[in-house]
Parts: sequence; structure tokens; C-alpha cells
Amino acid sequence: MTETGGGAPPSPGKVLFGKYEMGRLLGRGASAKVYHARHCASGLGVAVKVFPNPRRPAGCSAAGDSFIREISALRRLRHPHIVRLHEVLASRSKVYLVLELAKGGELFSRVEERGHLPEDLCRRLFRQLVSAVAYSHSRGVFHRDLKPENLLLDEAGDLKVSDFGFAALRSSSSSSADGDDGDLLLHTQCGTPAYVAPEVLTKKMTGGYDGAKADMWSCGVILFVLNAGYLPFNDPNLMSLYRKIYRGYHRCPRWTSPNLRRLIARLLDPNPATRISVDGILRDPWFAKDFDADQWTALMQPRGDATDPSGKPHHRRELNAFDLISFSPGLDLSPLFEEATSDRERFALAEPVDSIVDRLEQVGRAQGLAVRREGENGFCAVVEGQKGDFLLRVEVYPLTASLTVVAIERSGGAGESLWNEKLGPALRGPVNLALETPSFITEAERIHDATGSSME
Ligand code: ATP
Repeated sequence: MTETGGGAPPSPGKVLFGKYEMGRLLGRGASAKVYHARHCASGLGVAVKVFPNPRRPAGCSAAGDSFIREISALRRLRHPHIVRLHEVLASRSKVYLVLELAKGGELFSRVEERGHLPEDLCRRLFRQLVSAVAYSHSRGVFHRDLKPENLLLDEAGDLKVSDFGFAALRSSSSSSADGDDGDLLLHTQCGTPAYVAPEVLTKKMTGGYDGAKADMWSCGVILFVLNAGYLPFNDPNLMSLYRKIYRGYHRCPRWTSPNLRRLIARLLDPNPATRISVDGILRDPWFAKDFDADQWTALMQPRGDATDPSGKPHHRRELNAFDLISFSPGLDLSPLFEEATSDRERFALAEPVDSIVDRLEQVGRAQGLAVRREGENGFCAVVEGQKGDFLLRVEVYPLTASLTVVAIERSGGAGESLWNEKLGPALRGPVNLALETPSFITEAERIHDATGSSME
């Protein structure tokens, strides 16, 4: 086995960053190639999505935008029917997303093989799809590229929504979707317009884009395809295709039951204002057949504190190379991980984790505040005001035995002044280290030196 971390495409048998043994190519899209890989320590299978040229500025390449969107979206999402992002690694020339492996391949191939799917199977898969989409919307993520090619299956034949490269994210402080770069996205999506809602094609979205309604339209096209085996709107001439989409006119195959026809028509309603919403779908007779609120709640349940392939719970994980790279002020990769706001901050302390958390508790209590530890080992503490309102969240990651990274999220207002005046000065003490690193590569090399694993 040879070690690799970048440069040439990972060939079978190569070991990436000393952690993942690369296998065959699973698929390729416009922005990335996806490989099967095995996590060396645990033997678990994963999918590694490889994006070239991460240093090209966003907007210069398909990959430049889409990997940022995909990481930002997937970091918000933990759902049984959404592909899980295990970790992000980077080298001089590539970004690698280590993803949950969907062993069953693309749903599209399953439909192609069978012509169309039986109604009960359509219903099971559609419920899983709606649960994943509704959950994403509740977390401020709008997929905007839902189509059977982006729906994968696991070994049990259950759905895994993937490819969030076109996702729009709503920031917690705003009601509109961020990253909605109108023309660019619309232009890109015109490559596969058959699934795109009419209001997106007509650009009515500008200024008031309802990502949830547009995703519902795409769910309607998917439901139609699963049941029929062909697209509801199809025409070799793009203008004729658009006209069909605007009119919403479609013909279900003869085997479609009346209730399914009605639901498809309500999803493929060209007017987003009257198009069915998730709440409406839950009350729909076809969707709700032999299905109760408890089953929906179970479907919507986010995954617990999921583990990475090594089996380490997330709150305990050591920082990986990409986490470290993201601390570098020389290269602004922080948007990959979270929305940059003045309510967030990160710094390093030359102290072990426990003493930092102990100090936080002492100072917090002296101020009459409740400091609650989350996670069994207290790597995350939440500081609450006297009425139980959220003030601060402090996450503490071990970097080495004596060096710790502290990430703060403040509520604004009261959280801000509490941090600036009391907790911040007490916590930082005299040994606050700025994590200054001149470049992306230097950080990667530092990890190499520290771990002995080959990065390049
Ligand atoms: P697009 O052209 O839509 O932007 P992309 O470059 O973002 O695509 P994906 O659609 O995410 O790439 O992946 C390409 C193909 O790789 C998929 O169609 C699928 O066959 C395979 N694939 C992606 N993710 C996984 C996974 N987690 N498990 C198994 N196969 C996967």
C-alpha cells in the first residue's frame, strides 16, 4: 500500500492521510469524483468525494462553490435519510469529504432496471424523502437539486439524500436563504431543468425565494418518476419543455391510483402559493395511509450523537487536519464550517481541557449563572442566565495534551457583554495563543510533522 494525500487521483490500494484505503470509483459528477474507501482502523466502508483545486476562488469553478455549500449544509444535518458527513480532509490540491457509504447505489438505476416501482415502495421512499427534506428545511437548508440521481440507497434499500452542492442556507439570524446567487444557480440548474420548479425558471425567486416550495416541486417530479418510470415534463426543445413546466400539465400512467394522482397534482402545482406544503402532505390520504404521527416522529428523529467511522463520538473527536486548517487566518476557510458572525470566536489556550472547563464553571457560578456540561466528558459547556435563557456555548477541543482550542458561540446582547466583561478575560488568562499560520499548506505540513502521516 502506498500513502497519498493529494496530487494524482487516488488509485485503488492507496492510503489517504494514513486513514482511508482507497477503492474503486463509485461515480462522478460535474464537480467531484466519489470513491469507495475503507477506514483502516475500523474496517468500515466510506465514500470519499474528491474535489479538485480547493484554492481556486469561489465562483471560478463548479467545485469552488459546491464543496463549500455541501460542507456547510451537511454539517447542519444529521438525519437517517441524509448522507452523513464524517470528516473533511484537505491537501495542497484537493478537498476530500469522507461520507457515509450508500451501498445500494443510485435510486435512479433501480427505477431504470425495474421500469417503475410498485406503489407501496414509492410511498415508503417518498415518506423517507419528505422526512429528509422537511428536516433539512427545519435546519435552514434548501437542497434545490433534488432528483433521482441525487437519491442513493443503503444496503437495506432505504433512502439517503445526497449532493448538497446547490444547497441554499438560511443563516440563523435571517429569514432569507444565504448563498442564493440567483443567476449563477439558475443558469447552472438549467442543465437539468426537468426537476426545477417553474418559479425558479422564471426567476420570480429573486428577493423572496421560497426554497421549501421549490424543493416540494422537485419531490413531486421524483414521485412521478418513481411511479411512472419516466419524467412528467420532457421535450427535446428547451422552450417547449419550459412551457410544459409552467403549465404543470402532466399525464400519469394508467396504473396510478386516484389518491396518488391527486397528490402528484398538488405537488406539481405551478403556483408556489397554492402548492402543497409538508403539513399538507402529512394530511394527504395517499401519504397518510397506515401511517401515524409516531411513525412520522420516528422518521424525523435526528440521529443521536453519531460517530465517525473510527467509532469516536463527535464531542470527543480530536481535531482533524481540516479543522486545523480552518483556524488559519491566512486563508479564510471558516465559511466551510459555519456562518461567520460576530457571535462566534475561536482561540487556543496552553492548558488541558479539564482545567479550562473547571475554570469556566467557577467563574460562571461566581456570576450566579448555571453552567451545564453537555456530553459525558464535559467537552462542551452551555452557560445559561437565571431564567434558563441561552447566553453562551463553549466547545473545547484537545489539540495536544497541553494545547486546547476553545470555540465560543454567544447569544448576542447579554451573552456578548458577559463574555467580553467577565468570562472572556477570566478564561483567556495570560496564555492565550493566536493560532497564526501563514498559509493553508503550512498547517497541513504541521499536521504531517505532528502525526507522521503523509499529507503530500
Ligand atoms: P453533480 O454533477 O450533481 O454536481 P457531484 O459532482 O456533486 O454531482 P455527486 O452527485 O455527489 O457528485 O456524486 C457523484 C456520484 O457518486 C453519485 O451519483 C453516486 O453514484 C456516487 N456517490 C456519491 N456519494 C455517494 C455515497 N455517499 N455513497 C455511494 N455513492 C456515492
